[in-house]
Amino acid sequence: MEILTNPQNHSIVFSIASLLLICVTFIIHISEENYYNKQRSVFGGIIGVAFMINIMGLLHNIFLSVGPVERFIGYDENKYIVIAEKIFTYILPYFSIKYVMSIFKIEPSKSFRKILLLLPMLYSVFFFITGVFYDYFFYFSPEGELEYNYYQGATVNFPVILYFIFAFYLLVRYSRTLSSEKAIAIWIYFFLMLAGIPIRILTKSSSIFEFSVSIVLLICVYTFQNPSEYMDRDSGAGTRNALSFAISTNLIQKKEFTLLGIHIDRYSSLLGEPGMETGSDLLVQISQYLQQFCQAGNLFFLETGDYIMLFPNVAPDETIIQKTEEQIRKRFRDNWNVKGKNLRLFETPFALGFPEEIDSLERFAEVKGVLDKTLLKQSREIIRVSDLNMKIVEHDKKIDNIVKHALEDGLLEVFYQPIYEPKTGRFTSCEALLRLKDPQLGFISPAIFMPIAERNGTILDIDRFVLSSVCEMLSTTPARDLGLEYAEVNLSVVDCIQANLSDNVQATMKKYQINPSELNFEITETYEQGITAVMNENIEKLSDIGITFSMDDFGTGYSNLARIATLPVKFFKLDKSIIQAAFDSEISYMVMLNLIKIIKSLKKEIVAEGVETGEQARQIIKLGCDHIQGFFYARPLPKDKFIEFLRDHNG
Ligand code: C2E
Ligand code: CA
Ligand code: CA
Repeated sequence: MEILTNPQNHSIVFSIASLLLICVTFIIHISEENYYNKQRSVFGGIIGVAFMINIMGLLHNIFLSVGPVERFIGYDENKYIVIAEKIFTYILPYFSIKYVMSIFKIEPSKSFRKILLLLPMLYSVFFFITGVFYDYFFYFSPEGELEYNYYQGATVNFPVILYFIFAFYLLVRYSRTLSSEKAIAIWIYFFLMLAGIPIRILTKSSSIFEFSVSIVLLICVYTFQNPSEYMDRDSGAGTRNALSFAISTNLIQKKEFTLLGIHIDRYSSLLGEPGMETGSDLLVQISQYLQQFCQAGNLFFLETGDYIMLFPNVAPDETIIQKTEEQIRKRFRDNWNVKGKNLRLFETPFALGFPEEIDSLERFAEVKGVLDKTLLKQSREIIRVSDLNMKIVEHDKKIDNIVKHALEDGLLEVFYQPIYEPKTGRFTSCEALLRLKDPQLGFISPAIFMPIAERNGTILDIDRFVLSSVCEMLSTTPARDLGLEYAEVNLSVVDCIQANLSDNVQATMKKYQINPSELNFEITETYEQGITAVMNENIEKLSDIGITFSMDDFGTGYSNLARIATLPVKFFKLDKSIIQAAFDSEISYMVMLNLIKIIKSLKKEIVAEGVETGEQARQIIKLGCDHIQGFFYARPLPKDKFIEFLRDHNG
């Protein structure tokens, strides 16, 4: 006890604190089960070495503080303790390099490279141990300190410096593939290890160094060794982050590789049925099956299972990839048994070649975007990048640029499509539809540019533009006097999740003195699937002030009717695809009929969209639809034409 309370002995306290930290790190390290890889085992090695350094440091500090306590630690024992401590210190840089390499998945594949890596450490250790017998570059002072012959000492430390240079090179080259917090952690690791040399020389003690090693390991265990952001806990498969990381490190190393992918069609809608729990069960099964085709850590799930990707355990060899693919496909022809239920999954395989087809993460994102679109059409054949219509990418990029500048450049204009009300025989409402006209590309459909605007973030400004245009139209034209009761405005999901949506809407309404009853917002079924608290709140707030809502594109999604029915929505818009199909086949007609029945039983008003012929209009009116929109009555019209239209038909 006296040893600990004596202020002279702070280095002992230091050593103990440092040891405790190592123990904490060790406990955290082993508590991560269900996952094994190289990086983890190397990290285990580092902890072991750091632990030994600390133990030796502690014993040495005890020797120094208490003086040569002959029976406890004698002069000779201490000599070996110090030597052991030094040797472990030389082993540490070697493990550090291995660790950095495993983080970046660099394999010194050839055995001569492995030896090259080992050599500096072996040199130091060997040189140091031989010194025990010859005393030629160090000796022990009576205090038990190691005294160096500096020229010789430098020789021993030379390999350590080599490791540092190598580590520096690796970090400069690869750390940009890391997230910022990880990059900071690894650089701190590097500099604290590096600082070890001057600190030891200046303080003539290793305690501070040992303490920094412990802290650095604790930082690492929380950043690099914290697998949750890189790994799905249940299945052990990598996440999107892990895949991006793996791709970028492989690309930097100029490796040639193929990424094998499986898209499980309609996976998320499938999950809706047996419940989420079953979902992870299923993923565990699938990953267990697929694990045989790749090395540990080379299997990834994206979008919670819609996409499964793996780096097959082979060089990019065409025939082997084909074979792997066939095997996987064969398995998918059978059912998967989840909690007693038999599920049949429909998969679409694809193979992406790096780097000849895809040479950057950006390009990967582009290809994946096109894949998403292609997969909608479903293919039974293995898809290659060459099959994808990369023209879509080029086109998307161009439009992305146009959309970004459309507002400033004045390329946007709101059109209005009149909506007919059979009950009064007048056009009592309209839908605001956006038009983009590019001087070169001409007219671009909102169906194309709106999704792009949602992705590049311009959607909020665009929707605000639409809303103020609509309000301006209502307040500056005679539309109201001509019988227009309200205008329908499309609201994107991105709007719905903005906390200040209702404030913005109210501010615009106030500016143009618009009544809430003159506005109606259209939301879609996709909205219903990803509903969040903010969305609910927005709808409630806007409903409370008297704005009504429509459920747009009704009948096209896979939504839960019971849930939709609880939304405060006044209108259901039957999608044009439903209406048009209804006049092509009898079954589709029945579908439409029943959808109409459902909407009526929910006591909602029906808006039929896409009515193109007089015959369709007659039928639809007979079935009791409350509002009708379609080319039969009018196309979307520019503001002036729209007012003219109202004057001609409502006046
Ligand atoms: P939507 O909300 O379903 O809009 C109705 C679409 O049906 C419009 O296409 C309209 O021109 C078209 N349509 C109307 N009557 C007929 C018909 O009789 N036959 C056929 N074949 N089509 C008809 P548009 O204008 O190309 O808009 C496409 C989509 O773009 C809209 O689908 C909507 O989702 C989105 N969109 C358009 N304007 C805006 C906007 O201001 N904001 C937002 N967030 N989305 C918009
Ligand atoms: Ca709409
Ligand atoms: Ca629609």
